[in-house]
Amino acid sequence: MHYTGQIYRPPMESETPLLQITSGCSHNRCAFCTMYEGTPFTVSRMEDIEADLEELRRTYGGGVRRLFLLNGDSFALPTKKLLKIAEMIHARFSHIETISCYASIRNIGQKSDEDLKELRAAGYNDLYIGIESGWAPALAQMRKGFTREEADVQLDRLKNAGIRYGALLMFGLGGKGNGERSARETANMLKRNMPFVISAVPTAIAEGSELERMRESGEYTPPTERELLEEELLLLQLLEPEQGCYFFGRHPYNTVPVAGYLSEKGRMIQRLSRALSDLPEEFLESTRQRGHL
Ligand code: SF4
Repeated sequence: MHYTGQIYRPPMESETPLLQITSGCSHNRCAFCTMYEGTPFTVSRMEDIEADLEELRRTYGGGVRRLFLLNGDSFALPTKKLLKIAEMIHARFSHIETISCYASIRNIGQKSDEDLKELRAAGYNDLYIGIESGWAPALAQMRKGFTREEADVQLDRLKNAGIRYGALLMFGLGGKGNGERSARETANMLKRNMPFVISAVPTAIAEGSELERMRESGEYTPPTERELLEEELLLLQLLEPEQGCYFFGRHPYNTVPVAGYLSEKGRMIQRLSRALSDLPEEFLESTRQRGHL
């Protein structure tokens, strides 16, 4: 396989065969992110993609139903190219149902409604989007490359095209004292078009990141453990108990691991509430160091 650069895939895709079509991230500017440091955004050669598809077929057989396209935002590729890659996939895997990948709000904005419908018809679905927060000032400060209004518009367009998405969120992104605002705005944003999965982790301050510099200069003050848990709790309380949406808060950075469908969110709410009343005061008022995203 022609795997190059740093390889990331969502935990939910741990069983899914991975096909690399891009390296790095086309944005690569988010203040907290060092994921693709030293790896410029590049597009894989079609002959490499073709060879990797052959290898995947030899390894997994022709019955594969789901593929995940690497890397940071493969949905940045032009529609024509994505359709061509889908055609190559379907030619080898006749049972394929879902072609999933990371995508950004900007990637979606660069595609027409017609493009999105064509991509959906070709199998593209379950796009994982690093929305992080619905609170506009946090998006701007973290240089996410889109505004809250743009996120609303593009999530509506995805819904109209019938493309599901997974929301990747970061608690504490707004810094100390802004958890409640962030939870309320994030809930408002998600309610417009509920994702099929929400993956939520506390904000990490990676060594060498712009966010580390912002912390040193006082532009960003990390929230306490209490604030992080309260933000998560409030978000869960505000979201509707949707059957089809799975909440994943079990990253090693989540102090209190919770996961489950929102339809059974009571169990997660109870666990977080209990942690907030049972954990030692000293711990709740502390700020835990989390180093990598
Ligand atoms: S957080 Fe996502 S969009 Fe931002 S730089 Fe990192 S990979 Fe790119």
